[in-house]
Amino acid sequence: MQEKGTISIHTENIFPIIKKFLYSDNEIFLRELVSNAVDATQKIKRLASLGQYNGELGNLQVEVAFDKDAKTITISDNGLGMTADEIKKYINQIAFSGATEFMDKFKEAKDANEIIGRFGLGFYSAFMVADRVEIQTLSYQEGAEPAYWTCDGSTEFEIGKGIRETRGTDIILYVNAESEEFLDKFKLQGILDKYAKFLPVPVKFGTITEQEPDGEDAEGKPKTKSVEVDNIINDTNPIWTKQPSELKDEDYLNFYKELYPFSEDPLFWIHLNVDYPFNLTGVLYFPKVKNDFEISKNKIKLFSRQVFITDEVKDIVPEFLMLLHGVIDSPDIPLNVSRSFLQADSNVKKINSYITRKVADKLSDLFKADRAAYEEKWSDIGLFVKYGMISEEKFYDKAKDFVLLTSTDKTNYTLNEYKEKVSAEQTDKDDQLVYIYTNDPAKQDSFIQSANKKGYDVLLMNSPIDNHFVGQIENKLEKTSFKRVDADVADKLIKKDDAPAHILTEEQSTQVKTIFDSAINKPAYKVELESLNPEELPVTVTMDEFMRRMKEMAAMGGGM
Ligand code: ADP
Ligand code: MG
Repeated sequence: MQEKGTISIHTENIFPIIKKFLYSDNEIFLRELVSNAVDATQKIKRLASLGQYNGELGNLQVEVAFDKDAKTITISDNGLGMTADEIKKYINQIAFSGATEFMDKFKEAKDANEIIGRFGLGFYSAFMVADRVEIQTLSYQEGAEPAYWTCDGSTEFEIGKGIRETRGTDIILYVNAESEEFLDKFKLQGILDKYAKFLPVPVKFGTITEQEPDGEDAEGKPKTKSVEVDNIINDTNPIWTKQPSELKDEDYLNFYKELYPFSEDPLFWIHLNVDYPFNLTGVLYFPKVKNDFEISKNKIKLFSRQVFITDEVKDIVPEFLMLLHGVIDSPDIPLNVSRSFLQADSNVKKINSYITRKVADKLSDLFKADRAAYEEKWSDIGLFVKYGMISEEKFYDKAKDFVLLTSTDKTNYTLNEYKEKVSAEQTDKDDQLVYIYTNDPAKQDSFIQSANKKGYDVLLMNSPIDNHFVGQIENKLEKTSFKRVDADVADKLIKKDDAPAHILTEEQSTQVKTIFDSAINKPAYKVELESLNPEELPVTVTMDEFMRRMKEMAAMGGGM
């Protein structure tokens, strides 16, 4: 019984087009075919557990093999298999409808890169690397006949009686001339490592030699012998699929090392685990930030049911958390649509705010549980927290309770603690709190000393983000303004009662001031007499804070 037919498809010869445009990403054929094989395996397991299949399950695994001489790559499984009718339905109609859909999307998309790599072309992606694809399959159903199908990527196919003797499916790719690079052990191993490393069913790729105990030698020492064992390339049970309660710190650290060999240990991690209103699991790590802020972005890997999809998670993870590392797995993230659609997707939005909330909760827990340990990590996490407070309203609302302000004397304060600390001394006539800060403690040291002497505290705000951060909290905190320590702050504050009186008369003071004023000759600067004690600073020259900010803005290229 041999049958020929035509696949009903609207677009003739879509194959050359797909092949051309997907060329850079053609390795995803393996991801697609291996995940189909995994699906088929999971399905037979489910049928067995439902009592709808009573045969032996056997050793359920997927195998990838290649033959350099025959120029074939074969993906085999002992899953549920297909009957000839099912091939017609699932391969001729469904698989190829995936390809037509791809073409439609492709025509819509302005930028080909928007979809390439994200779109699961499914079974059809085999034609990116193969001139001809063959299926040999035997369905689990009682009395099923082995079936065979082949197609050369045109709309013509051939279907008939197959040769497979055991339940399951072989997909055989006759690799085309341009894709012979895939007929290579290291190449295939690399692709499998990338996409299949955490698939839920064991994936075998060749064998490896292992040493096995083999009795004792004449002197009674243990002997070993070499044995060939299956090379299983994946970890079927990665930590994000487990319950946090099953896991120890060590497990999280080992997994981190597995994902990012040679990295320093992370500061802490967050186990994501939610199934309503969307399904999402994962583990996010806070990496140790290097001093030079050389932190690589795009370190989060996105999976869908343990199949690696991409490490471009820009649209799923809030921008300020892009520096995190780890994995996210969600079957609810649409992968086959363009980026603009993704940004508008309601699941993606919910996932985004869920992650933000979890990160805020984790930081809050750490802060409450062990303040000292939290402060120790502050130099690493401060950047995330401040960036998050600037960019996400919801994060600000939580983080305002655990963000730390660091004084020039190295003490850390929460916003509330700091307010408490300085409100008595640093309030001006209008009852406004004035927070004094430095962005260059070395250069502004004399100003810091002089402020401290008057009983004022000076905050350290010298990280790259602090400029924006100061602006942000100034907007958020009521009746609070920030002044740089070299600005004209002091005289605006209510002075301490015990501040030493000047020994100069008012007239003498005016004279000294006039001398300095005319020497500087710039109206934006202000001269103030401090003290006549030879060990202290006699005069400070400050600049009006408003003028200073205007100047800074002008230097940055004007305007807001
Ligand atoms: P999808 O996996 O998204 O359904 P594919 O194009 O990858 O789309 O596959 C189409 C269909 O072909 C699958 O849904 C499945 O029914 C069938 N199929 C593909 N590969 C196998 C396989 N190895 N074993 C059994 N059925 C398969
Ligand atoms: Mg598929």
